[in-house]
Amino acid sequence: MFQFDNSYARLPDRFFASVYPEPVEGPKLLRFNQKLAAELGVEADLSDPDRLAAVLSGNVVPQGASPLAMAYAGHQFGNFVPQLGDGRAILIGEVMDRAGQRRDIQWKGAGPTPFSRRGDGRAALGPVIREYVVSEAMHALGIPATRALAAVSTGELVQREQEQQGAVFVRVAASHVRVGTFQFFAARGDTEGVRTLANYVIERHYPDLMGAQNPYLVLLQAVADRQAELIARWLGVGFIHGVMNTDNMTISGETIDFGPCAFLDEYNPMKVFSSIDRQGRYAYRNQPGIGQWNIARLAEALVPLIDADEEKAVEAANAVLKAFGDTFQAHWIEVFRAKLGLVTARDGDGDLVQGLLSAMEENEADFTRTFRALCNAAEGHDDDLLACFADTAKLREWLPKWNERLAEEGRGPADVATEMRGVNPWLIARNHRIEEAIAAANYGDFSFFEKLVEALEKPFEERPEFADYAIAPTAEQKVARTFCGT
Ligand code: AMP
Ligand code: MG
Ligand code: MG
Repeated sequence: MFQFDNSYARLPDRFFASVYPEPVEGPKLLRFNQKLAAELGVEADLSDPDRLAAVLSGNVVPQGASPLAMAYAGHQFGNFVPQLGDGRAILIGEVMDRAGQRRDIQWKGAGPTPFSRRGDGRAALGPVIREYVVSEAMHALGIPATRALAAVSTGELVQREQEQQGAVFVRVAASHVRVGTFQFFAARGDTEGVRTLANYVIERHYPDLMGAQNPYLVLLQAVADRQAELIARWLGVGFIHGVMNTDNMTISGETIDFGPCAFLDEYNPMKVFSSIDRQGRYAYRNQPGIGQWNIARLAEALVPLIDADEEKAVEAANAVLKAFGDTFQAHWIEVFRAKLGLVTARDGDGDLVQGLLSAMEENEADFTRTFRALCNAAEGHDDDLLACFADTAKLREWLPKWNERLAEEGRGPADVATEMRGVNPWLIARNHRIEEAIAAANYGDFSFFEKLVEALEKPFEERPEFADYAIAPTAEQKVARTFCGT
């Protein structure tokens, strides 16, 4: 089924623990992502869903697999934990996709590993559905993210605060190497481990850097740049990751670990959904600062490789960290300029964006609907936009400034609007819709899950059959809290 070539398994023993999945009682295929399977060159016999479910749940280990749990450490909410590791995930192996990219295939929830600590190594159905929906939605929005190959129910219960149905999620990633993977070796004073890992990720994710004079410094720079861009793009769609611990930040630049993540409904830069983020460390607007903080932790791990002279190494790494803010800002303004339909860069664009955002904040305007309505406004139809604001005074002050700025670019209103509709989604994975899909799934009805996934495959297209998904939640529908993906 898979043409495996398992490079991580060829790394030194201390990088991982070999482990087999623990079979489950009654695996049942909930959803299989055929398009992704084709992209990966995975041959799946859909006429035999039981066999497929057996493989995708971990009951049958496919030929050529070398199942393992990766070792990693990480800062969780600022506190360093020297050993985390894959406690409920097992890397099945790697395949080369049709574009020649190496991709990890991982079972999530396939049973305990040596890194499980007190956990059961299992996943509950709700979080599996959430991760499936949101990771695929991010991909459809054009934002780098790990992917969903399949979801399987296990026929078993898992003990959480309440008993829940169990499931296995099959995740695909450019790789699962995290900032925390580097920290694992650095914390042990294992500089050779850090070097081996750095060489591995350079070859896998940044092959252009292979001949660089100081490859480890440029690696740090490259990871910082990808994360700065990624976070800018999160902000552009109102995404709050929710648990940006260093073990949840990839080296590849893909969004990973869709636990308590959520999209904004009304615009509130201080917004926090995660029930465990009591201080708001990972609030919407704190994400770039946390990104930089996490890159600083990567820098610390890489310092011994950057220069034998520690002082020089620190100085070089600090220069990269200092640049993070500007790099982020450059990506952020690029993202938001496009959202306003602008193609050239002018001084004052940042203020123009902020002007709209502060009017939105004051009015608790729905983030997604406002920007989508702005596309109509570019063609002179302001009604939908005005309807997003309780008090339109600030918006009415802002609109002429934006129109003037657009006019300077001299492009046709229809062209501007069409382009804007390609960057301002009509649909996002709204929390109340995800919760609805999960609630129905818990009663054995997967139709909401199916329909939600289908809707979010084309988030920029206004398809009448999915109109309900474009509507902001009512006060009663609003989901205040999200919970960790356990
Ligand atoms: P996360 O919050 O998903 O980033 O996970 C943090 C750490 O806890 C990782 O090392 C996970 O593997 C581990 N973990 C989370 N849930 C479980 C579970 N149910 N069983 C074992 N380990 C877990
Ligand atoms: Mg994690
Ligand atoms: Mg997780």
